[in-house]
Amino acid sequence: YIPVVAVVGRPNVGKSTLVNRIIGRRQAVVEDTPGVTRDRVPYDANWSGRQFTVVDTGGWEPDARDRAAAIAAQAESAVATADVVLFVVDATVGATDVDEAAVKMLRRSAKPVLLVANKADNNNIELESATLWSLGLGQPHPVSALHGRGSGDLLDAVLDAL
Ligand code: GDP
Ligand code: MG
Repeated sequence: YIPVVAVVGRPNVGKSTLVNRIIGRRQAVVEDTPGVTRDRVPYDANWSGRQFTVVDTGGWEPDARDRAAAIAAQAESAVATADVVLFVVDATVGATDVDEAAVKMLRRSAKPVLLVANKADNNNIELESATLWSLGLGQPHPVSALHGRGSGDLLDAVLDAL
């Protein structure tokens, strides 16, 4: 059995960049465009000799008319098939109302969730990311998916959660 790690979060928080970082190549979908994004895209990954599938998601559409339903449908379908969920937020923005709506849904799932504070490109943002404890998902994992900072520690935490 190959475990599944789903990557969910608002648009533009860096989910696809993080998936690229995790799979170690540049083939994940960073060119996501609203309306074009596929719902769930699986990639083979491994870390420390452990194989897993990482699922990139898109399509959270905060401007959609039925916003809550759009968020729930997208996230729940990915979460339902996952063993561990990476919930990605933008550490340079902090927690938004859309993030908090997603947290409510994630709590209803029985899945382990790791909170990823992405775009923590420097020490200041990393320190600031501690405010994300307020989301109630436990310890934020500060990462810069773009530069690689923190990604090894995050992957160690993923393996611990699998
Ligand atoms: P997605 O919509 O959540 O999949 O987000 P993308 O991976 O497409 O990234 C959205 C934008 O954020 C792109 O311009 C990325 O280059 C940028 N981005 C992603 N990760 C980081 C990061 O760690 N630091 C910074 N500064 N920018 C990032
Ligand atoms: Mg994307």
